Amino acid sequence: MSNELNCKEVSRLISDGHDRDLPPKERARLRLHFVICETCREVNDQFNFIREAIKKLGQHDRP
Ligand SMILES: [Zn+2]
Repeated sequence: MSNELNCKEVSRLISDGHDRDLPPKERARLRLHFVICETCREVNDQFNFIREAIKKLGQHDRP
């Protein structure tokens, strides 16, 4: 088994939100992939943006 994540694995981790609670070693592999793969980096940025937006919306709902 390769030590490098492929784009399919990376996009699954991102969309499942697993990049947040991965062990540091796994997260490092993910970050390493972002360095070499612009596509996954953009996907990750978009998911982060959406998560932040949802978080802000949720905060507005509170009294
Ligand atoms: Zn990729």
